[in-house]
Amino acid sequence: MRNRRAALAAIAGAASLALTLSACGQSGEGGSEEKAGDAKGGTIGIAMPTKSSERWITDGANVEKDLKAKGYKTKLVFGEDDPDQQVSQIENLITQGVKALIIAAIDNKSLNNVLQQAADAKIPVISYDRLILGSKNVDYYASFDNEKVGKLQATYLVDKLGVASGKGPFNIELFAGSNDDNNTKYFFNGAMSVLQPYIDSKKLVVKSGQTKMTQVTTLRWDGATAQKRMEDILTSSYKSGKVDAVLSPYDGISIGIIAALKSDGYGTAAKPLPVISGQDAELASVKSIIAGQQSMTVYKDLRKLAQVATDMVDATLNGKKPEINDTKSYDNGTKVVPAYLLQPVSVDKTNYQKELVDGGYYTADQLK
Ligand code: BGC
Repeated sequence: MRNRRAALAAIAGAASLALTLSACGQSGEGGSEEKAGDAKGGTIGIAMPTKSSERWITDGANVEKDLKAKGYKTKLVFGEDDPDQQVSQIENLITQGVKALIIAAIDNKSLNNVLQQAADAKIPVISYDRLILGSKNVDYYASFDNEKVGKLQATYLVDKLGVASGKGPFNIELFAGSNDDNNTKYFFNGAMSVLQPYIDSKKLVVKSGQTKMTQVTTLRWDGATAQKRMEDILTSSYKSGKVDAVLSPYDGISIGIIAALKSDGYGTAAKPLPVISGQDAELASVKSIIAGQQSMTVYKDLRKLAQVATDMVDATLNGKKPEINDTKSYDNGTKVVPAYLLQPVSVDKTNYQKELVDGGYYTADQLK
């Protein structure tokens, strides 16, 4: 929360700076600011998927702050995980005359028509974190190396269990993200590239038998849905034996899974919690890691993601080419979308201090 307050304070600061600059412009003293004025000064529409997860609230605040610092105005909307609502929000942003759109899609395939409206109005579109599929009207993609996210999660599980050095067999259960999010398959395939050889050699056993992505997805990344699935698996497949590891794609899902395990008696010396992964370094999960419950999370520095996306907007609106570092990984079905991919970092209780606190992502107080 403190993070958010700081972000909001920074936004307020940037807003008053923008006001000062425009006041300078009006009085004719604004020289260089005024020249940048045409491309700047416009409003950028930002469509985020939901407020139900902390990360997207942080994303929205970071993107607004960076755009304001670059001299733009912003309109930020959250789609509350309802694809239709997100489409109408984007339609509204287009009607309101935004100069560019930054969109983190809810359903990656539902935006085709509305993006055609954006293209007709010559509004460039940045696909934020999640790739929008099936539309040629996506200019750039700002994200992380999503396959690596899955690899980091699975590598952590395998290392902690010690299967590579011959230990086992161990029982593992698998969870994946929402089936309408393009990232889901990258996370899952990345993880399975590490886990599958051990599943094949029976060093890792999935007692539920649910190993295909279509069997293990979690609609809208919902923690309660994951909790229910974990409860069902415990009832049906663990009358004997225990779960040693859980592949979880996201912190909110990990929290649901841990709740299910605890109500089944896990979390004691006799029946310890399994090794369990996560993603996003959300506050509740970092606290859970410190308390020895969730084992790890994948930290994605959202400050950097906002910077990349807003640089893309700024360059595009000023007729320049934004910096990209990937032109082959992200085919959206109509074209390979030029991307800038950031590096995710594996965080557990041994390095959270260095990565999250020393790195300025959280204060030590927030983690108490
Ligand atoms: C994001 C993850 C996030 C998940 C659930 C994915 O598209 O890449 O960072 O955990 O959505 O919000």
